[in-house]
Amino acid sequence: MMKHQNLIEKITQRYTVGLPPGRMVHSGDFVSLQPAHILTHDNTGAVMKKFRAIGAKKMADPRQPMFALDHNVQDRSRENLKKYEGIESFARDMGVDFYPAGQGIGHQIMIEEGYAFPGTLAVASDSHANMYGGIGCLGTPVVRTDAAAVWATGRTWWQIPLVTRVHLTGTLSPGVTGKDVIITLAGQFNHDEVLNHALEFTGEGVATLSIEERLTIANMTTEWGALTGVFPVDETTLEWLENRIIRLGDDHPRINRETIANLKAALPVPDEDALYFQEISLDLSTVTPSVSGPHNLKTMTPVSAFESKHITIQKAYLVSCVNSRVSDLAAAAEVVRGKQVAPGVEFYIAAASKEVQEISEQRGDWQTLIAAGARPLPPGCGPCIGLGTGLLQDGEVGISATNRNFKGRMGSPQAEAYLASPAVVAASALAGRITGPEPVSGTQLIADIQRFEQSSSSAQESTLLPGFPEIVAGEIVFCPADNLNTDGIFPGKYTYLDDFTLEQQAQVVMENYDPEFGQVVKRGDILASGYNFGTGSSREQAATALKARGFQLVLAGSFSQTYKRNALNNGFLVLEVPQLIDELLTRFGRSALTVRTGIQAELNFRTATLTVKNQTYPLPVLGPAAQELIIEGGLENWVKRRLTTES
Ligand code: SF4
Repeated sequence: MMKHQNLIEKITQRYTVGLPPGRMVHSGDFVSLQPAHILTHDNTGAVMKKFRAIGAKKMADPRQPMFALDHNVQDRSRENLKKYEGIESFARDMGVDFYPAGQGIGHQIMIEEGYAFPGTLAVASDSHANMYGGIGCLGTPVVRTDAAAVWATGRTWWQIPLVTRVHLTGTLSPGVTGKDVIITLAGQFNHDEVLNHALEFTGEGVATLSIEERLTIANMTTEWGALTGVFPVDETTLEWLENRIIRLGDDHPRINRETIANLKAALPVPDEDALYFQEISLDLSTVTPSVSGPHNLKTMTPVSAFESKHITIQKAYLVSCVNSRVSDLAAAAEVVRGKQVAPGVEFYIAAASKEVQEISEQRGDWQTLIAAGARPLPPGCGPCIGLGTGLLQDGEVGISATNRNFKGRMGSPQAEAYLASPAVVAASALAGRITGPEPVSGTQLIADIQRFEQSSSSAQESTLLPGFPEIVAGEIVFCPADNLNTDGIFPGKYTYLDDFTLEQQAQVVMENYDPEFGQVVKRGDILASGYNFGTGSSREQAATALKARGFQLVLAGSFSQTYKRNALNNGFLVLEVPQLIDELLTRFGRSALTVRTGIQAELNFRTATLTVKNQTYPLPVLGPAAQELIIEGGLENWVKRRLTTES
């Protein structure tokens, strides 16, 4: 039995429930998780609706969820206040911890208040749960339906991703920050190298990074494409926890002497012979202040190159969960001290939390920023997500310390947003154009990627639940496209027709991709396709329509994570078999849209193998979590069944 585990697998093992004795979890396994905590924010109202729809009446464990209102905090309309009151009263009724608007951004509160605690696993109904990795907590996002299921049952499911080790060496030069590190990683490795991976940061360079720098890097592993990005728990983490006790007092429910002692007694560390999919290495001493964008994170340019470009700006932002902590505000204050924001530039600042603002005020940084002309906003998300005061207008250019610069996110789609560190944002606000605080000489970046050979001899036998088939067999129908998106699978024009039946879904499935598809396929077929299947919008019908058409399952090189969650949550099996897909591509090419291959595939879920002719391919191990979803016909039924059997 394979024993070695990397850090991601180690932490996941601790939070996996229902494993047979001695079973070790590994990348690819579908597991049933009981996360330590779950955050919902302004979307709590939407999750409440789903919670009620599945018939739940109380929280499985009221200590597990926490609600923090942070996105639309500037909206004082009656409608929004009513919505916020509804969430607060629901929290009271359910006995759940609640943080009202003005306390700060939920992810920051998760860190400050120890819901995201080193060595644990926490989830959020928000894509920046990755940030918890900065303190060694495995944080990963879930969708709203999953959040409702966690509230009701305490559990969710996860397929453990492939794990990439990000090995950091060297030390950052003065004036270079965690933001520059993640901008550089995302800009340098910008061909989906870590798409849907879990990242594990290692190497002696880690020790040179502060917790706030690690939080920034972990936060934007989301934009880099990863599902989580975790730093090791080291001396810096433990010192940070000790300092939290000084601030919070001795009787905090989550950060206290006992929880720290327990952590030290069982520090999560990877096994020496742990396996990784690949390693990315970066010499921190070769990173320079850099800027992302506009419109994406794949374009990364050293800030020095902007001197000749002379890009004027109208807005500058020091807001959001990625870069509005004490050290960020301090770095910006240092740049603007005694100077003034350029005429024609609006420079907005919002602390990541009330606590951050208080500390920044005690240090005098906040006042320095205001004296220089910065405009304060309440702690919260605001312009980061295009809400409230100070959004980008048509034709404007902004530089922002946030994490996303997608077209239209921070205001008008006719505006341009660049991302950079707080110091670069502050220097640009003073200059009225994109620039850095001080000239930094260019260095040749030292960064590399190495793919490891994968062992295929480690498959573990699965225990099958009653009612789950051991064997599934059928003919493969092959659609050789990569990135077959949800609009190709289920046309957008039908998505919001509320009375569109499953039979109708089955008739129109894939009509955008291949109008002939319906004439080629038969019930009982197995659909195979290329890489990143189901990308695009999150419409659930892209999964339910294929199921309704009679496909037994979908095989692909890889899937969009949202598609995979939607499929499993609707009781429809989708599995990654990249070796088989590569061979189908070699044999059938890409010229036809849909091919009846004549190839019979047999999937054996007990041995986790797929056989085609005499060739055998490894399949992901389907743990009880995935099996139960298929047997019950989806998450909603699974939750209902659990609620009935437990009441
Ligand atoms: Fe999302 Fe921005 Fe709020 Fe962070 S600050 S949670 S990225 S909207």
